[in-house]
Amino acid sequence: MSVQINHAVARPVERDWRSAIGRGLMGRCPHCGEGKLFRAFLKPVDTCEACGEAMHHQRADDLPPYIVITIVGHIVVGGLLMAEKYANWPMWLHMAIWPTLAVLLCLVLMQPVKGGVVGLQWAMRMHGFDNNGFDGKPPRPERQPAASLLRP
Ligand SMILES: [Zn+2]
Repeated sequence: MSVQINHAVARPVERDWRSAIGRGLMGRCPHCGEGKLFRAFLKPVDTCEACGEAMHHQRADDLPPYIVITIVGHIVVGGLLMAEKYANWPMWLHMAIWPTLAVLLCLVLMQPVKGGVVGLQWAMRMHGFDNNGFDGKPPRPERQPAASLLRP
């Protein structure tokens, strides 16, 4: 006699992380790709204007700056070393180019990288993106700071 056990557990539909990151990089909702992701420079919208996907619970936190620092560091340090090796630039030119380039690259890259991180979180069902529209249950409540931290 054999016992057969069927695990009929509903599994969430897999989300395409590549398109979600791409949509986030373009500043669009990772779910539908239509609505805007940001209402200000680094402030995501609360919900997508096109599909209603909730974005307020995203937790990109410090990952976008870490990614931007890594990218900008490779560009600026690599460019500086190449200029030192193959060009004979005066010091004032180095001091004018590299800090300016670093600041500009950080400003240009920060919003797209944050959008990409939010897209990845959506695709991985992280931080409240886990059961939206899947099992009909409301999203889990947001983590709240401990009561002891709220009191002075
Ligand atoms: Zn949307």
